[in-house]
Amino acid sequence: MDERAVRKARNETWFRDVNERLELHAGLRAGPPPTFEIVCECDREACTERIEVGFAAYERVRRDSTAFIVVPGHADTEIEHVVARRDAYEIVSKLGAAAAVAELSDPRNGA
Ligand SMILES: [Zn+2]
Repeated sequence: MDERAVRKARNETWFRDVNERLELHAGLRAGPPPTFEIVCECDREACTERIEVGFAAYERVRRDSTAFIVVPGHADTEIEHVVARRDAYEIVSKLGAAAAVAELSDPRNGA
């Protein structure tokens, strides 16, 4: 496996774990909210940008282990490609080794 791709993918799966907890927390407070705030799921360790995302839209993305939500322009074309563009964010899909890491570490797959 390409080590760089794996490391980048691990960064992104870490942010996904954070967002899964943010979603849970938002939902526990007052039931599923129409929107909530997540962190950008790009591979830049220093990125702390926030994204307002619809609850239903977030759930749709999470059904695909290789899909991530990033701030427009934060996609890393070495390991992913943009599959959808929204006003506040882009949805990216992992490629190759990065996709394998994303699938294996998906908490919704029991990882
Ligand atoms: Zn980012």
